[in-house]
Amino acid sequence: MLTVRTIAALRARRQELWRSGHTVAFVPTMGALHEGHLALVERGRELADEVWVSIFVNPTQFAAGEDFTRYPRDEERDGRLLAERGVALLFAPDVKEIYPRPGVITLDAPPLTGGLCGAHRGGHFQGVLLVVAKLFNIVQPEVAVFGAKDYQQALLIRRLVDDLCFPVRLEIVPTVREADGLAMSSRNAYLDPQQRLAATVLHRALAAAAAQAQTGERSGAALEAAIAAVVAGEPAVTLQYAAAVDPETLQPQPNIARRVLLAAAVVVGSARLIDNILVEVQ
Ligand code: AMP
Repeated sequence: MLTVRTIAALRARRQELWRSGHTVAFVPTMGALHEGHLALVERGRELADEVWVSIFVNPTQFAAGEDFTRYPRDEERDGRLLAERGVALLFAPDVKEIYPRPGVITLDAPPLTGGLCGAHRGGHFQGVLLVVAKLFNIVQPEVAVFGAKDYQQALLIRRLVDDLCFPVRLEIVPTVREADGLAMSSRNAYLDPQQRLAATVLHRALAAAAAQAQTGERSGAALEAAIAAVVAGEPAVTLQYAAAVDPETLQPQPNIARRVLLAAAVVVGSARLIDNILVEVQ
């Protein structure tokens, strides 16, 4: 596996691949890799000749007071895992390479960035849109692979690609979970054993609401209340939001017609965790 830290070095390798007619599947990450990330890599291998992964803890997507400085970083271990999975290139730039000067261009999608996580993380999705646009222009992959765990992010990137005509095919991989249902996340590393146990309430709450939707509950408010009620049963966990929204617009769905996205964020100790389930109702 080739590790590159500069845009120039990456572009040189990209030129070689174009000459040989080989395609690239790109997996952007913030590192501290787990099986969720590696599932994206596996999917990438099915879709292109080479898988390229970036590890970049993007400062612009962290709101003031969030965990940017203490976000887990272990490039050596990450590099080993990626090499084992057949990744051809790791792009691990420093902040100055991606943000050499204060930027003046901003990206936003207010109807989609305003709710759910966007309502609680000021500037987060604007930072995500900016870094993903930069990374797509740097890497110019044929395919880019993202995870359904970050549903709002995946939806925004879909719109970024469609609205700005990025020549990249998007692939979304289902959420990879621990045996007890907890969605894998780099931030699970913040949990002590008791908090780790308590954190399972997030998926249990969403699964309980999903079961209600599947057995006839059509009120979005009732489903949100169902999520909140299960989370309230776990005193170590605080609910940040529970949402039953239209999967395309992310707007509240008073009456569910066909599909509903159930999404929630909780705080456990110093970790903020998110999860979601997409439910098709009859
Ligand atoms: P991150 O490093 O947290 O920014 O995530 C990088 C990519 O991995 C994003 O596309 C995430 O949606 C995806 N991802 C993170 N956790 C999971 C998971 N448990 N299952 C599937 N994809 C995931």
